[in-house]
Amino acid sequence: MRFRKIFSLFCLFITCSLLWLIHYNYNYTPSWLRRMLDCREIVTKHINMDLIFPPGVVCAQPSVHTSRPDVSLSTRWSAPIVWEETFDVAVINNIYKHQNVTVATIIFALGKYVRFLKDFLESAEQHFMVGYPVHYYLFTDLPNEVPEVNLGEERQLTVIKTPSINRWQEISLKRMKMIEKLIEEELLYTVDYIFSLDVDTKFHAHWGAESLGDLVAVLHPYLFGFSRKQFTYERRLKSQAYIPLDEGDYYYEGAVIGGRPDKVLKLAKTCRMQMEMDQANQIEAVWQEESHLNKYFLYNKPTKVLSPEYLWNDKKEKPSNMKVVRFSQVDKNYADVRPNP
Ligand code: UDP
Ligand code: MN
Repeated sequence: MRFRKIFSLFCLFITCSLLWLIHYNYNYTPSWLRRMLDCREIVTKHINMDLIFPPGVVCAQPSVHTSRPDVSLSTRWSAPIVWEETFDVAVINNIYKHQNVTVATIIFALGKYVRFLKDFLESAEQHFMVGYPVHYYLFTDLPNEVPEVNLGEERQLTVIKTPSINRWQEISLKRMKMIEKLIEEELLYTVDYIFSLDVDTKFHAHWGAESLGDLVAVLHPYLFGFSRKQFTYERRLKSQAYIPLDEGDYYYEGAVIGGRPDKVLKLAKTCRMQMEMDQANQIEAVWQEESHLNKYFLYNKPTKVLSPEYLWNDKKEKPSNMKVVRFSQVDKNYADVRPNP
C-alpha cells in the first residue's frame, strides 16, 4: 500500500517535471515529442496567418477600377496574378510585418553552380524580403567555396553538405527529395513560408511579402501567353507527368516554388513519388521536375501566381507590359557550368 503511494507520487513528480521542461524549454524538447505536441503550434500559426491590419494606420484608398488593364490579374480559380501596381507595399507590410512572418529560402549550388552564389545572396540581401527574417538553407557539395556575404539583421545562412552529382539532370530529380526531407526534419513547424529558388539568378528589384501565399507558382518568362498546346508539358502517356493536349492553365517555371511548409511538403513529396515511379518505368520526363511540377499545379491549383516579373531571363527583351524585372535568370554558358552536356 505504502509502496503504491510512493510510486504514484513519483509518477506525478516526473509528469510535472516533464510538463515544466516542455513548457519552459520547448527548443530542447526532443523533435519526436515536439512533433506530437505541435498540433498546438499549427493552430496558432494558422490563426496568425489571417490578414490582420493594425487599427489606426492610414493608407491610400483602393480604386474600384482595374489598375492594370494590359495584363491578366487573376486566374480562372480566382487566385491573384501578382504584377507591379496591383499591390501596395505599405499595406502588405502592415499586415505581414506585425505577424513576425519568417521565410526559409532553399537553394542548391552543386559543382560549378557555386559561382552564382555571391550575386544571388548579395542581390537577395538588397531586394528579397527586406525587413523580414530570412533563413537561407544552401545545399552544396563545396561548402568551402561558399562566399562570405554580409547578411542583414535576422537573416542567416545554413550550409548543408550534399554529395556531388555526375549529371545535371540528377539535381533536378533530387531537389524535391531534399526539400521534402528538410521540411519534415526542420521547417514544418519553425517557419511560416518557404521559397525554393534557382541559384543561377539575380534579384534586380523589390520582391516582398506580396509574393507570400499558401501555394505559390511563377509563370514561365518564355511560354507566358502561349496556347496550352504549345506548352512543353510531358506528352508521353507512360510518364506520371503526362498532361493531355486539351488540359493545362499555364506553363510554370521550376525555378521558383513557394508556399506554406505543409503545402510545399505535399508538393515535394508528390513530385518525388511521381519521379520515382517514372524511374521504375524507365522514363524521365522531358523537363524533369518541372514537368512533374506542372502536372502537380494542374490538379493542385496555386493560390497565388507570380507574374514573369518574378522570374525573367537576362537574354530576353522586356516587353512594354513588364514594368519591372525583380528576379532574372542569368545568361549562363551551359557547357561551362554543367557537369555533362
Ligand atoms: N544545379 C546545381 N548544379 C548543377 C546543375 C543544377 O546546383 O550542376 C541547381 C542550381 O540550383 C540551379 C538548379 O539546379 O539553379 C536548376 O538547374 P539549371 O539552372 O541548370 O536549370 P535551368 O534553369 O537552366 O533550366
Ligand atoms: Mn536555372
